[in-house]
Amino acid sequence: MTEAAFEEASLTVTQDGTEPGGPVAPPIVQTSLFTFSSYEEMEEAFSGRKPRPIYTRGVNPTVRMFEEKVAALEKTDDAIGTASGMAAISLAVLSIVRPGDRMVCVRHVYPDSFRFFQTTLKRMGVTTDYVDGRDIDAVREKLPGARLLYLESPTSWTFHTLDLERLAGAARAEGVVTIADNSWATPIFQNPIRLGCDLVVHSASKYISGHSDTVAGVVAGPAERIGRIRADLHPYLGAKLSPFEAWLLVRGMRTLGVRMREQERNAMVVARRLAAHPNVTRVYHPGLAEKAAPGLTGSSGLFSFELDDRVDIPAFCNALSLFQLGVSWGGHESLVIPAAVSLVQAGEHNQARFFGVPDRLVRLSIGLESPNYLWSDLDQAIERSQTSCKPDS
Ligand SMILES: *Cc1c(COP(=O)(O)O)cnc(C)c1O
Repeated sequence: MTEAAFEEASLTVTQDGTEPGGPVAPPIVQTSLFTFSSYEEMEEAFSGRKPRPIYTRGVNPTVRMFEEKVAALEKTDDAIGTASGMAAISLAVLSIVRPGDRMVCVRHVYPDSFRFFQTTLKRMGVTTDYVDGRDIDAVREKLPGARLLYLESPTSWTFHTLDLERLAGAARAEGVVTIADNSWATPIFQNPIRLGCDLVVHSASKYISGHSDTVAGVVAGPAERIGRIRADLHPYLGAKLSPFEAWLLVRGMRTLGVRMREQERNAMVVARRLAAHPNVTRVYHPGLAEKAAPGLTGSSGLFSFELDDRVDIPAFCNALSLFQLGVSWGGHESLVIPAAVSLVQAGEHNQARFFGVPDRLVRLSIGLESPNYLWSDLDQAIERSQTSCKPDS
């Protein structure tokens, strides 16, 4: 990201509004309801003449603090905190589609977004066309008559970066609304609303939290759209963010910028060394691309690579000691997950199989450990998991 944008974000995450009594850490307003001192005060709030918190499913000051910070970081008007990233995604999508609609979605979208589109939305009579988001002409071909273009950049598992500005422009020209999942880049490295998207969604469980202790989400965008979601949909679906988790998120966001910079640096070191390793056939990392993706000003710590067939992937995973096997990403700790387990994952609508994720692909979430230790761990694990050499004949 540019230095000026980084400096601006540093104020958003560190400075809060003033609280009575001056606590430097904000209080957690852990309450279900807010009382009124008189009938008149209650009536003023209910009539909308003097908006104020009434019930935490609607508005809560701790949640509001989180929402305002995300809106500021995404350089847009407003945001709604939600119980999870999937709650943010379903909320955003359901605010736009109606029965009989068709949506266009980029390939290699997050697995549970894919499952949501293939199950619940399909049952509601909404169909989805999946297109390679890097092929702008292919996307353009599908846009006429569609209601929604659903974007995620970079994509899950394969980290394809998309030109959000051109895609959003093409959609707008056809009257198609756009939603972008910005969990990977965070507002530190990418601002989809600035690039012309209508709504941005995040799994705040990842980098925004940064400490692997919260499941949460957020949808952000212009006042008009967010206001409508707040009035017409969010209170009834009811997947609110809890005040305690909002507080954890605000606490985590204090270091969002510095974590992103450090994880970017650590991941680049590891990715470059992997790219030079004789057993690694390919590294999928947006920061290694010859040309930077437009609108993406940095890269995070999540990427993947492919091992050649001289490496036994289960043995490789078991030989790692610093990297722990696990889903999710974006925390302080480094994690590993092989695509092979996703390819055999039980249940219908297997995203990895549907989009053809390579079976020798391994995803890493680089945490805040020194990259030298991380590299030593990967290097020894590759060495120890070599299958016995076969003659070349
Ligand atoms: C994890 C993730 C989600 C879902 O978020 P939850 O907080 O787990 O519900 C959505 N999009 C992307 C890209 C993710 O990685």
